[in-house]
Amino acid sequence: MNILIVDDQAFIRASIKNELLALDNEHNFKIFEADGGNEAIKLMEKHAIHGLEVFDLVIADLKMDNGDGLAVINHLATTKNKSIPLAIISSSDIRTLELISNIINGFNLNFVGVYQKPLKVGALLKDLVQHRDKKEDLPKVGSQVLCNEYNITELLNEDNLFLCYQPKIEIISGKIVGFEVLARLCVKGDGFIYPDKFIPLAERAGLNCQLAKLVLNQALSQWQLFPILKDYSLSVNISASDLLSIDFIDYVIEKHLNTSDIKLMLELTESQDTINQDKTLQALAKLIINNIPISLDDFGKSYSTFDRLDSIPFDEIKIDKDFVSDLDSNNQHLVIVESIIALANKLNVNVVAEGVETAAVLKQLKNLGCDTAQGYYFSPPIEGRHLLNWINEYNLRDEENYAAC
Ligand code: C2E
Ligand code: CA
Ligand code: CA
Repeated sequence: MNILIVDDQAFIRASIKNELLALDNEHNFKIFEADGGNEAIKLMEKHAIHGLEVFDLVIADLKMDNGDGLAVINHLATTKNKSIPLAIISSSDIRTLELISNIINGFNLNFVGVYQKPLKVGALLKDLVQHRDKKEDLPKVGSQVLCNEYNITELLNEDNLFLCYQPKIEIISGKIVGFEVLARLCVKGDGFIYPDKFIPLAERAGLNCQLAKLVLNQALSQWQLFPILKDYSLSVNISASDLLSIDFIDYVIEKHLNTSDIKLMLELTESQDTINQDKTLQALAKLIINNIPISLDDFGKSYSTFDRLDSIPFDEIKIDKDFVSDLDSNNQHLVIVESIIALANKLNVNVVAEGVETAAVLKQLKNLGCDTAQGYYFSPPIEGRHLLNWINEYNLRDEENYAAC
């Protein structure tokens, strides 16, 4: 068994190594060491390229000078080394360790656990064995997991939740202004289950607030972990029925207070009967008073949309993609989009067109004075692990290209 210990303190590496060797009755362990994330990554790359030993376990410290544990996590998430079992060790407090756990789970890594220092090596090895057994029990990839009213409670958990992020682009400058979080369920590596399938089931089972909390938590963790993301707003979808739960509203406000440097926005999907109830209006007021901006999602889909504008101070209107994607060939849709943009401009709220798939549609939106665009033309929803790469590439390529068009 090949074990890589990554820590910038030589005495910690030595103590873990000694404990491992003391437990290795059958002399099976081969120990490798790295004094930082950068060296560990080099070593893993070298082993992969030259067909050297495959690591059976990486034990990595979180805070190190030469490339921290997050660099190791990112490396594993974005390379073929993803399947290497990873254990993180740290002297951080429990909340930070939980945050790291959430992030790693979001990356779908082969994750054994996060351990507080000093590491109890025996406990880690026990967890590793249990972790392997559990993995071997899983159905093989390809055996499609169904999502239905009977198993939705079981499926809807942190391990299965997988978030993607779709960029929102300022039309006039071509700059990224934010990202919308779009949830998927990914059960045992068996492909995505999309929200159109699981959200109605979750709502019917009364699990909508649980889902919303999981999404909020995981997305905020991603934004916390990579400070560069704080330049961009983070839009989370909620449905009107989530607003009926006081507990959920308090949860969002508390989360926002603890992460006030993240520009959080809630995209509210309409639901004809619930949105104007006293309780939902109060919940919206409470969110707005606590500086959480609200976007009115899927604008134009419902007849009663205009009532909302009167009773609630929204910060943003999102025009539904059904009107946007073909507005260059459908005159009726063009007229609808044009009047929503004019209305938003008069009300002085930001207007976002979703479902922008072509340069022709983007050009029309620009002429109509639309502020922000979102859609496949810029990017489909991006998996969290690819987000930073996507941002870097977009920012490099965009600035000169966009101005030209
Ligand atoms: P939405 O909020 O209107 O999100 C936009 C949907 O359009 C997304 O589908 C996105 O993948 C898709 N889309 C993006 N760009 C384009 C494009 O250029 N063309 C076309 N044809 N489609 C595009 P997705 O991810 O399947 O989400 C469907 C709906 O599920 C969302 O609609 C949203 O209402 C809901 N949803 C997603 N995540 C969550 C969540 O975490 N909580 C709640 N309550 N609802 C969610
Ligand atoms: Ca949305
Ligand atoms: Ca929509």
